[in-house]
Amino acid sequence: MAQAKSGSDRMEKIVSLCKRRGFIFQSSEIYGGLNGCWDYGPLGTELKRNLKDFWWRRMVRERDDVVGMDGSILMNRQVWVASGHENTFTDPMVDCRNCKSRLRADQLPEKNGRKQCPVCGSFDLTEPRAFNLMFKTYVGATEDESAITYLRPETAQAIFVQFRNILEVSRKKLPFGIAQIGKAFRNEINPRNFTFRSREFEQMELEYFCRPENGLELLEYWLQERLRFYRDIGLSSESLHVHRIQPEECAHYSKGTYDIEFEFPFGIQELEGVAYRTDYDLNQHQKASGKPLDYFDEESKQHFIPHVVEPSAGVDRTALALICAAYDEEVVTDEKGKSETRTVLRFHPRMAPIKCGVFPLLKNNELLVRQAREIVDQLRGEMMVFYDETGAIGRRYRRQDEAGTPFGVTVDFDTIGENGPALRDTVTVRHRDSMKQERIAIKELAAFLGERMR
Ligand code: ATP
Repeated sequence: MAQAKSGSDRMEKIVSLCKRRGFIFQSSEIYGGLNGCWDYGPLGTELKRNLKDFWWRRMVRERDDVVGMDGSILMNRQVWVASGHENTFTDPMVDCRNCKSRLRADQLPEKNGRKQCPVCGSFDLTEPRAFNLMFKTYVGATEDESAITYLRPETAQAIFVQFRNILEVSRKKLPFGIAQIGKAFRNEINPRNFTFRSREFEQMELEYFCRPENGLELLEYWLQERLRFYRDIGLSSESLHVHRIQPEECAHYSKGTYDIEFEFPFGIQELEGVAYRTDYDLNQHQKASGKPLDYFDEESKQHFIPHVVEPSAGVDRTALALICAAYDEEVVTDEKGKSETRTVLRFHPRMAPIKCGVFPLLKNNELLVRQAREIVDQLRGEMMVFYDETGAIGRRYRRQDEAGTPFGVTVDFDTIGENGPALRDTVTVRHRDSMKQERIAIKELAAFLGERMR
């Protein structure tokens, strides 16, 4: 219980920091918000961009066997019929007869073996019924049955239906993958835990096509690759968990699924699913469209439908995990012996929204300001920098600590040579985590910072 309380306290502080510093706001806030939708502010946008860029670099650019695509959100309705989403992409829903809340039947707390409403505590619940999570919409001017389609609930289907086109243009041989990052929409019955379960979110998905005999081995390979990715963006091994889904809980076509989970303050929850989906999706689309989606193996001169392993990650969930993992508070004592609590986001420099703060010691000294501005101009082509001249230098450091900025560069009187030539054209670099400072020549700054964030 104590742990649950400290988890919820921590989460409250994180949510409040996210708003105060401009990571995440409620969507349409001035109109009372829209449940399950969120807007990212300046810092959150940079964080998400860094995450997506690093995923793309790892999954596409650094590999010979993966290419990218960018599919549309709206697709022909038949895609969702063939994939099974129209009939079976549902969650079990119950209504509380007492307080009228709509709830996910599989997430209800139990008391003495009976399911209970988490809102009012009543046991008076309806029988579960299937609720389809896809957002329905109409294409064109008439709102009739023939115009129905859906906002995509996952990005993967665009990859399957374009499989043949991409195979032809990329001229890849098995095994190879197609990667995509994009928005997905699910009309979740109960959006909750901040951005963790949203109605609009982004996914980063790879469909890795292979020969049937390599599927199981590649499932293990991708699990390890994806764990390496999470460690490399700064999530500790201890905070990551692997949950093997029991065969009876897997989708009927899956020959194995792992969930990669993270210890959020509200519990251990899924970040990503890594699933061996066999040839189910391509088969379904080949059958429904009547178009061949097979692969011709030149060696054996045989046609077959490739199998696929799918690592499917959520951008928003991972961004939230990064913020939760980075959040820290510590008591620090200044040189006058005064103690205060410092809030610091210890992002890996790779993920940090702002890489470097640049500060002239005084804002009313023209030489200091000019030199600091020159440093900003020199660095901004390479990384996100932030110029700040207001307030005491200690305050400016604290503001960047809260934003998770790993380095602070201060231009002082030594820099402009007022205390002699020895330290001219050098600056103080302050490290966010240790708060230690060192002196670096301005001309070496870009390389010094660059090598710490690649
Ligand atoms: P859950 O069981 O939590 O609903 P899922 O198993 O249905 O998730 P998948 O269909 O495997 O999720 O989707 C792949 C990834 O997309 C998830 O691991 C998650 O990171 C992300 N994702 C799915 N639904 C949401 C959502 N409602 N909000 C934010 N991210 C989501």
